[in-house]
Amino acid sequence: MAINFIEPLYEVVRNQDRCIKCRVCENQCSNEVHRYDSDLKVMLSDETKCVNCHRCVALCPTKALKIVKSDNCFKENANWTQANMTSIYKQADTAGVLLSSMGNPEPLPVYWDKILINASQVTNPPIDPLREPMETRTFLGAKPKDIVKDKSGKIVNNLPPQLELSTPIMFSAMSYGSISYNAHESLARAATELGILYNTGEGGLHEDFYKYGPNTIVQVASGRFGVNKDFLNTGAAIEIKMGQGAKPGIGGHLPGQKVTADVSKTRMIPEGSDAISPAPHHDIYSIEDLRQLVYSLKEASDYKKPVIVKIAAVHNVAVIASGIARSGADIIAIDGFRGGTGAAPTRIRDNVGIPIELALAAVDKRLRDEGIRDNVSLVVGGSIRSSADVVKAIALGADACYIATGALLALGCHLCRSCHLGRCNWGIATQRPDLTKRLNPDVGSQRLVNLIEAWSHEIKEMMGGMGINSIEALRGNRLMLRGVGLTEKELKILGIKHAGE
Ligand code: SF4
Ligand code: SF4
Repeated sequence: MAINFIEPLYEVVRNQDRCIKCRVCENQCSNEVHRYDSDLKVMLSDETKCVNCHRCVALCPTKALKIVKSDNCFKENANWTQANMTSIYKQADTAGVLLSSMGNPEPLPVYWDKILINASQVTNPPIDPLREPMETRTFLGAKPKDIVKDKSGKIVNNLPPQLELSTPIMFSAMSYGSISYNAHESLARAATELGILYNTGEGGLHEDFYKYGPNTIVQVASGRFGVNKDFLNTGAAIEIKMGQGAKPGIGGHLPGQKVTADVSKTRMIPEGSDAISPAPHHDIYSIEDLRQLVYSLKEASDYKKPVIVKIAAVHNVAVIASGIARSGADIIAIDGFRGGTGAAPTRIRDNVGIPIELALAAVDKRLRDEGIRDNVSLVVGGSIRSSADVVKAIALGADACYIATGALLALGCHLCRSCHLGRCNWGIATQRPDLTKRLNPDVGSQRLVNLIEAWSHEIKEMMGGMGINSIEALRGNRLMLRGVGLTEKELKILGIKHAGE
């Protein structure tokens, strides 16, 4: 008899006194954890299937359920941890690459939490955002170096195409296929209502969502799924995806079971086929090649749309960004190593890339030193968790932030990190009709609007506290930041002083 070495990580604790056997948990769990035993007249659980998504806990009408971490443990070993041992057992069982979803959960430094924000006291008084205007409007795109005048002395508009955001936050790339139709509709509607943008990801644009074009960034990735002239011309900007923080250096893989008829039509690929985007763009091996694609896309869209180049935060990111800033791109998006994903090899997700805070500071400094900072705007993402992270990112040199995991949390995601299984109980990372209908776009879009409005208000409060009334004045203003518990080297890379200095 084969022995199962892998023990359940979680225990389902059911309070039998409270349980009314309504079977809601059984009907709600796509992982088939709960089952009613009609002989015993009792609800039972198969804990080996539980991913700890909390759907049953949230919907149990009598609050009879609790999911707790199993206290089954191996003999203590700081080197061979339970997680390391379980991975070995899994691979010995399957011979497969370990897969995961969402962002890197390892306890690596979170620099945002080691950076503190300034506030005015006595001199340079704070500004009250409830009584005085605060400007969070953000324009993304290359800025001209000179003011050009015609013969009559009138200023000539030489401003390249810009994106206008009401607040410096956008929804990052998540493809239709990796997330559901209703999740995409929620993002598109919220972006439109808020005056910001959402991003199609690499899956093309569903025909129903062309109407949200002015608030849409359309993405061109190595697989070129769903890319055509209408797609390029519908978005407000075009993003070339060179890399992604969750899986730098490798391509994407949407399993065939997520490629439903609708997804296949949008991606322009056969239904049920795996959508595999290669690691490189097969026409890009240098900055000159990238420049050709940037200008091909500008040509295809009449030079009316800014082109974004998205890269993962990796070693030498500043040099790479310097090349991109000379390629004709208008915006560089940098995705940190904590960025989320619908599916990635676990080892890549947890071990490749660098923190976005260090990458951003290094890129901003390099572009300033080279006198080309105005060639591009910088957008950063990869686990921006709060309005405070946004403020710190902007003070470190970003023009705006991308959020994705935070947006999915607003839609109900409980970070079970099982998106790659395609059975998301919250109707987000799934294409199963019985699950996708659980996310109501009316509710979802309103929750996203609420989140961004709350963050915008907090951003204004923090700006006001610093005596700053315009987001422009915060950009790259590292004097507003201080580090705590950081080494000299880390402070130097971040370009900030230590607290107390
Ligand atoms: S949802 Fe709660 S009350 Fe209903 S069967 Fe499950 S545990 Fe019992
Ligand atoms: S989107 Fe769904 S499957 Fe993915 S982590 Fe969130 S709750 Fe889990």
